[in-house]
Amino acid sequence: MTYRRVLLKLSGEYLMGNLGYGIDPKVVADIAEEISEVVEQGFQLAIVVGGGNIFRGVKAASAGMDRATADYIGMIATVMNAMTLQDALERANIPTRVLTAIAMQEVAEPYIRRRAIRHLEKGRVIVFGAGSGNPFFTTDTTAALRAAEIDADVVFKATKVDGVYDSDPALNPSARRYQSLNYGHVLTHDLRVMDSTAIALCKENNIPIVIFDLSVRGNIVRAIQGEPVGTLVGG
Ligand code: UDP
Repeated sequence: MTYRRVLLKLSGEYLMGNLGYGIDPKVVADIAEEISEVVEQGFQLAIVVGGGNIFRGVKAASAGMDRATADYIGMIATVMNAMTLQDALERANIPTRVLTAIAMQEVAEPYIRRRAIRHLEKGRVIVFGAGSGNPFFTTDTTAALRAAEIDADVVFKATKVDGVYDSDPALNPSARRYQSLNYGHVLTHDLRVMDSTAIALCKENNIPIVIFDLSVRGNIVRAIQGEPVGTLVGG
């Protein structure tokens, strides 16, 4: 089982590495190197980036800020990550386009579904910035939404652990990793794979989700080739 078109969700936290805030250039360079192999092998890759390494709407709202305003700031934060990723990918000779859900035409293209698909067909990596363009949503949900829109075969959720466990492996040495799970189980047990809106959207559109450790060299290509590198969530 090989996937042809992949939607990769990269959280802001992933880009932050071990820093307390912002972007670790080494992490971004490593991602670019991994992705160059994906592109060289002819797979199509679209990325949704988060912004939690810079700004989180819910957190600012809990400190008193208007929630919608805070969320718009969060979405703008994701554009910084998207542009940073584009820069790293292009330095690795990967043609990349950033498409934003909030128009910022001086720095990126506006999101137009048909254009996004065209870029993929031409072998370009696309990075979706500004989330869904709507407050009260997350970039996890955006990943599921864009995956459905561009007809992606799978959603890859990049993490620093090698899948989903039945308990916290950092606390419980006998924690067991799930090879596969169904959407219903994830939703009813509230497993923190992605937020529930994202899971529900993937379920409705029959899009499998693979949760895996992107920091292990070659893992993304292995995941594309259907190797069991993490946890597969499906029907
Ligand atoms: N956000 C939003 N609508 C979206 C996507 C994101 O309002 O469709 C805002 C929200 O405030 C969120 C922030 O952007 O906290 C950063 O996104 P997210 O928390 O999903 O990033 P991640 O956790 O993946 O780093």
